[in-house]
Amino acid sequence: MAQAGRPKKIFQTPTGMHDILPEDWAYFQRILKVVEETANFYGFSRIETPIVEMQELFEKGIGLTTDILEKQMYSFKTKGGDYVSLRPEGTAPVSRAYIQHGMMNLPQPVKLWYFGPFFRYESPQAGRYRQFWGAGLEMLGEQGAVIDAQLIQIFYNILKELKFKNLIVEVNSIGCTSCRAYYKKLLVNYFKTREVSLCHDCRRRLRENPLRILDCKEEKCQPIKAQAPQIIDHLCDECHNHFKEVLEFLDELELPYHLNPYLVRGLDYYTKTVFEIFSEVTRKDEEGRDKETVVKNALIGGGRYDNLVKILGGKETPACGAAIGVERIVELMKECQIKPRLSSHQPQVFIAQLGSSAKRKSLKLFEDFRDVGILVTESFGRDSLKSQLRIADRLGVQYTLILGEQEAISGNIIIREMKTGRQDVVKFDKVVKEVKKRVKK
Ligand code: AMP
Repeated sequence: MAQAGRPKKIFQTPTGMHDILPEDWAYFQRILKVVEETANFYGFSRIETPIVEMQELFEKGIGLTTDILEKQMYSFKTKGGDYVSLRPEGTAPVSRAYIQHGMMNLPQPVKLWYFGPFFRYESPQAGRYRQFWGAGLEMLGEQGAVIDAQLIQIFYNILKELKFKNLIVEVNSIGCTSCRAYYKKLLVNYFKTREVSLCHDCRRRLRENPLRILDCKEEKCQPIKAQAPQIIDHLCDECHNHFKEVLEFLDELELPYHLNPYLVRGLDYYTKTVFEIFSEVTRKDEEGRDKETVVKNALIGGGRYDNLVKILGGKETPACGAAIGVERIVELMKECQIKPRLSSHQPQVFIAQLGSSAKRKSLKLFEDFRDVGILVTESFGRDSLKSQLRIADRLGVQYTLILGEQEAISGNIIIREMKTGRQDVVKFDKVVKEVKKRVKK
């Protein structure tokens, strides 16, 4: 009980986390529907892995020196003494499932998709949450560059289907373990001589994960980055040819892309192709003139991860995948005034009742309409006919069925056509059939 004089505590969602309110769920549903239909078309099957995994899965998979592992994990020890983490991403769990369920014995590539919540302890800011929803597609067991290009096309199609314009696809190759090792040395040599001019984080990255310097957004690091050696010039023959082929396939698909030599992505498991998709939004001033063009946070990120399955204890398995940030898409849909356009849940019929025996009969009648697939609604908590009719009017139903004491006794019910106000008395046990006939018309 609250103590006298002390204000009652109002609970809020934890920092960086948010409720999905009914009006937002319509957007989520729309995105889920487009992802599902697209995934089905390209032959992907749905998989859902647990929200909690062993901590070691992410340490091995994502890499200990990545931002995610260093700063963003929700990890804890269970009562049984296991070290577990809330999943920060979906690729490592899906790869774990691929190994655990022997999917290497299925025809390859195995194509899987998922849709669910992910957790990263980030500094909350626009488009960055501590619990966010992601939808991912993964293709395991195929090394050809055609898969990389097709995956980019699939995600591009999802965004186009959601009616986004001005999409920017950025691609790069970060090579394989052998050519990247040599390139890392070159990078370290280059940045070492300029270390004093780097930001605090990049000085640390120089020792731990020099590739991540290329990803730094700090102003002071930009001119130094711009002169740094580029990995494209140092790929081994295999990676070079693979990347060339990816770009040729993208050209064939007539998919517009930019080469971004600084795109490295925040997870260690990537090899060869990496990509991100952004959207450019032009904001208007009060008079409706174009004011500024803003490139939004990445909507989609992914790439090839040929070593991950092996790192996690499986056989050598080339693979490729990517994920969508659902909240970012919802925010952009709102900003671009894209409506979720879902199939209507608009009720066609309202059941109004008056008196206790009418209420009892109405409850059963409601179920009878459900059985024949007619969307009905009610306000059983209300006893005034006037207020029920007001609600029916506000809901925009086609028909209101009025069941008063009188009708309940005589075995009748009134069908009121809301548009015209015309009322017909029909037999109670014929009403479903009658309404069905009228709704169809
Ligand atoms: P990543 O694997 O980090 O590239 O994440 C894949 C996608 O998830 C990104 O392109 C974003 O759209 C989205 N995303 C990543 N982190 C967050 C976050 N903290 N809040 C919201 N969306 C996120």
